Amino acid sequence: MQKLPSTSSSEWNIPTDVFVYNDLSAKTLAIKEIASYIRGLFPRMKVEVRGDFVSHHYRGSTEELAEKIARTKVRNTSNPFEGFDPLFGEIRFEEKLLERPERGISGVLYDATRLHLVLRGMIPEEELSLRAVHAVFTSRLFGTYDIADARYHARVVLCGYPSMISTSGIVEAPAKPREYYLMREKLRALGEDVPTEVLKEQIQGRFLDYDDPRMTEVMKGYSLQALFYAITHEPFCENPDCRLYNSHWQEEVLASQLGDKEFCDEHSSLIHQIAEQ
Ligand SMILES: [Zn+2]
Repeated sequence: MQKLPSTSSSEWNIPTDVFVYNDLSAKTLAIKEIASYIRGLFPRMKVEVRGDFVSHHYRGSTEELAEKIARTKVRNTSNPFEGFDPLFGEIRFEEKLLERPERGISGVLYDATRLHLVLRGMIPEEELSLRAVHAVFTSRLFGTYDIADARYHARVVLCGYPSMISTSGIVEAPAKPREYYLMREKLRALGEDVPTEVLKEQIQGRFLDYDDPRMTEVMKGYSLQALFYAITHEPFCENPDCRLYNSHWQEEVLASQLGDKEFCDEHSSLIHQIAEQ
């Protein structure tokens, strides 16, 4: 069943400005191409490409910001978020990353809503408006805690003001083909610790990897989820052939973003209507 936005066109919030921020560490993310894609669909919106979000907005002390970000780290993925005082090394780690955003990051999970608040605090008042969409590509991996299965889940996107889209999340959050996990379990049972890279080879092409040449194409769809959140408050679609589909599996990501059909009929029509407004 197709889930449609609950709001009627009279309740749409059509943004006038879209700011797209680059993740400098994502070598295959062509940010200008993503901006052109949005412009192509919505010619009346002003789409601006910006560099790294923090470098663009933040003028304060790097050390202070590093500490704020370190405080949003998830230390135990099986527990709801617990505040803590970060260690000197953790703050230093964030500082280095802020100084050289092109280095990227791996192995750290951040609490999505807390990280979001830190970023939100940097947007100047005149740009913190329903009329402006901020789509922030980041290498940071963020997640939300799910009470149902009592653990954190990594996310690709967190919609809001700003919307955060993770280039690590797209690799880590959607599940890989089942064989990957079966193989890993089997080898573990045999007492073998096989490197992830070796396991990945077995499912090559069937998931999106770091610096994947398909990264830009896939991320076009996620940038639209941020836009749809701003316009209708409903960023996702239930049709697996639509780019707004909320994929839980890597194979669904590839099918929805790279398939022959870009959008379901309903979203095609919505995009057309929004572009006319
Ligand atoms: Zn759709």
